[in-house]
Amino acid sequence: MKKPISLLLVLAVLLVSCGTQDRKAKYIFYFIGDGMGTSHVTLAKLYADSVLNDSNAVSFTQFPVVSHSTTYAQNRYITGSAAAGTALSSGTKTSINTIGLTYDRTDTLYSIAKKFKEAGRKVAILTSVSIDHATPAAFYAHVGHRDNYYEIAKQLPKSNYDFFASGGFLEPNGSKSDSGAVSIYELGKHYGYHFTTSLTGVDSLVAAGAKSVVYSAPNSASGSALQYEIDRSPSDVTLADITRKAIDVVDNPNGFFIMVEGGKIDWAAHDNDAATVIHDVLAFARAVDVAIDFYSKHPNETLIVVTADHETGGLSVGNRENKYDVHVNLLQYQKVSKERLHKLVSDFQLQNPKAKFADLLSLLAENTGLSKEIELTDADIQMLMEAYNYVFKSSQSPETTTYSETDPISRVAIQILNSKAAIGWTTGSHTAQPVPVFTIGCGQEHFTPMLDNTDIPKMILRSAALR
Ligand SMILES: [Zn+2]
Repeated sequence: MKKPISLLLVLAVLLVSCGTQDRKAKYIFYFIGDGMGTSHVTLAKLYADSVLNDSNAVSFTQFPVVSHSTTYAQNRYITGSAAAGTALSSGTKTSINTIGLTYDRTDTLYSIAKKFKEAGRKVAILTSVSIDHATPAAFYAHVGHRDNYYEIAKQLPKSNYDFFASGGFLEPNGSKSDSGAVSIYELGKHYGYHFTTSLTGVDSLVAAGAKSVVYSAPNSASGSALQYEIDRSPSDVTLADITRKAIDVVDNPNGFFIMVEGGKIDWAAHDNDAATVIHDVLAFARAVDVAIDFYSKHPNETLIVVTADHETGGLSVGNRENKYDVHVNLLQYQKVSKERLHKLVSDFQLQNPKAKFADLLSLLAENTGLSKEIELTDADIQMLMEAYNYVFKSSQSPETTTYSETDPISRVAIQILNSKAAIGWTTGSHTAQPVPVFTIGCGQEHFTPMLDNTDIPKMILRSAALR
């Protein structure tokens, strides 16, 4: 499945970068929206335009160069984050679940982040999920399976990178089966790594001359991730906050490479939860805006690439029920993620084990608009009633989806809302849809209209005049 080098590509590399021959991208931002297909971007933009009246909310859609990228893995047409992350970090396809190794796991694949570090740039790796998750791991770790979180974390301090920021670690003290393991905080110290849960703490450590800093956000959500944007309280840290902090830490005359993952776009899409997808794409776009601010001060030396590792959910704007109509405005009444709604329903049930269906409807009205701003049909009420009977009368344990727990009431409520808003979902997994690539800045001319994910890191290196 090797892609032929196109004539356009050959012509593009002959073009001179950034005006003059000796200019090259010194400051690189690599944004990866996990699971963020074209429809996720389209939906967030439609919502921002029509509900928030903000036509600049997804400003990366206005970048001058827009491409599409294929995402397939070495051994499966529909990829996963480990194989796709490795392709985006190293420029080589690998097998499903493999991180930083060849498809047969016999040889090491190196990330462009390492190349930038070796070339004297500073490097920051940022994510809204845990730092040992597949996408960030693909920039510093080499493991046979993405689920080896402790093994991944142990490799983090060996990277020698300057700054890491995330929701934390999944197995900081070793896997459950390994009780004698050294905590990664202890281990990190030996490599000169400093750990903090405060953004001002990052400043103090840097001011005191700390070589490398690992920031983990306080009040993390499940899975050691940042809160979903829709659930976030004002004091919770955002992806834009940590992007801003990363620039403070790694900005230096030799330049930098910053990778930023919007990791929970994927999680919300696995949950088929459109409102939560929208708010996480918007939060991701605000992190890109921080880079755009930096770019506007250094337009001849900065490259920003915004892409995705794969599409999640088979999301469509438009569905069978609504034919040619869309009602994305209905999603504004959803106030919490499906994951948080499950928690609210569970707490409500614990406190009111004999609650009536009408009481449950008030909870749903408040958090989703259903039965309040959004009218329910007899069929909708029937579905919710069945879910209520199932949960309240048969005391079932929660259902699990890829990244969260749910219950029939929350699942049916969000399904009804998505259906009324004309949002279609074809899967709870990933799809093979190509993903968008938005590029601006020094080297943008290397990004041709149709790419493969393995092309992207190579073009970033080329923009920076590295190999
Ligand atoms: Zn992914």
